[in-house]
Amino acid sequence: IPVDSFDLVVFGGTGDLARRKILPGLFRRFLAGQMPEDARIIGAARAEMDDAGFRALVAEAIGEFGGPASRKADELARFLDRLHYVAIDAKGDGGWPALAQAMRPDVVRAFYFSVAPALFGDLAERLHRHGIATPESRIVVEKPFGRDLASACALNATLAEHFTEHQIYRIDHYLGKETVQNLMAVRFANILFEPLWNARHVDHVQITVAETVGVDGRGSYYDKSGAMRDMVQNHLMQLLCLIAMEPPYRFDPDAVRDEKLKVIHALEPVRPEDIVRGQYRGAGKGTKGSYTDDAENRDSRTESYVALKVNIANWRWKGTPFYLRTGKKLRARASEIAIVFKEVPHSIFGEEEGWRENVLSIRLQPNEGMTLSVMIKEPGPGGMRLTEVPLDMSFADALGEDGTDIPDAYERLIMDVIRGNQTLFMRGDEVEAAWAWTDPIIAGWETRGDKPRGYDPGSSGPEDALMLLHRDGRRWREIR
Ligand code: NAD
Repeated sequence: IPVDSFDLVVFGGTGDLARRKILPGLFRRFLAGQMPEDARIIGAARAEMDDAGFRALVAEAIGEFGGPASRKADELARFLDRLHYVAIDAKGDGGWPALAQAMRPDVVRAFYFSVAPALFGDLAERLHRHGIATPESRIVVEKPFGRDLASACALNATLAEHFTEHQIYRIDHYLGKETVQNLMAVRFANILFEPLWNARHVDHVQITVAETVGVDGRGSYYDKSGAMRDMVQNHLMQLLCLIAMEPPYRFDPDAVRDEKLKVIHALEPVRPEDIVRGQYRGAGKGTKGSYTDDAENRDSRTESYVALKVNIANWRWKGTPFYLRTGKKLRARASEIAIVFKEVPHSIFGEEEGWRENVLSIRLQPNEGMTLSVMIKEPGPGGMRLTEVPLDMSFADALGEDGTDIPDAYERLIMDVIRGNQTLFMRGDEVEAAWAWTDPIIAGWETRGDKPRGYDPGSSGPEDALMLLHRDGRRWREIR
């Protein structure tokens, strides 16, 4: 369905994120017919260049990151026609009158802040000073949204000086993933799951976001952040909220976000013995190198891996732990949410070899999809022997063309901005509540002077992280 016509200004339009995700994503939406004929995208960044220069840069970015879509030369030319560029100084006055001039009245105005967060306030202030932002305009802000509660509150306060909450779209691209939205459909559009979705029937939940890459190239940024700030406070927390929240009364932005916020408020403080931090260490073993080399800080205590056991203190979840883990340089690039159900109360088949609990596995990458593992009778005449089979719903199969029809998270979210739908964006109070929970955890290990445990690049993480589940009589699912 086409969206209303728009002028989308991408601040930082020449930067890495714009070239890898935002602009190729917009091209795919264009190919999908979602962009009105007169929609325009205006790059705004520091470099001096004209429209032609920007179009060449975008064409190159789409060639590099646009996948199979980039081969459609005619369409690409038509897409590039709607691109414009204004050189702008976020901290000065240069370029702002030209940007004001370039904006059309009577179309949706959206401003994507794909620049360092230190510039958010400057951009917001100048958009107003130059009369570019209207009460209907939207701004999209990127992560990181603060590095602790105080900085997140300050950032919210700065944006609030110029924009109301309903104009601010805080992006968490995990919420734009097809599977994540499907999680809500599965929970709230089927009668099957919701009656079982509680501590009586769910033994525990595992959320894994495993990467194979290290911090190469981003070392100095990452070293000030670490896995807890970079991944858990935002992405993993958002996933946890969607699994744990109560049914909202309607699929409406504030109804959904109110329920997510209640989950964050119900999170118990995490005990030190329920956290394992790790750092990949390859040195001396002939493997690919160590975190401390990549981060160029030999004494760094920043974690490139973290695993934690999280308890939710409410009626639905009391007694069902959520185990979260994320890390870099792990065995495989794999993100999964696994809802591990309890055993049947009594087995009429006696002690069965190979008996497994039912697991609903929600894969975010690769191969987005869901699998429900169920026990059935092993086919054949061998008597009543049980075996586990998957009920598989791979979205790639459902949509055809090996998954290429699934819109990337960024492109879907940008179209939501144009539509004015905030459901899949974080509200200011959610972000603050998430930091309020995260801050004491980080402060705890900083005061104690904890050192992260070493783990081999290409492994599943530190040994101690295995113990986190073993001591509860459980085991992590394989990373593959
Ligand atoms: P980048 O350094 O590659 O690009 C920065 C952009 O900002 C450039 O276009 C530059 O011209 C512009 N810019 C810098 N100073 C300016 C000024 N004074 N006036 C006007 N323009 C100015 O950065 P990036 O990697 O594209 O990241 C952009 C934002 O997105 C950051 O907030 C980052 O944290 C976030 N982010 C990036 C990624 C990623 O994969 N790159 C992922 C998630 C979030």
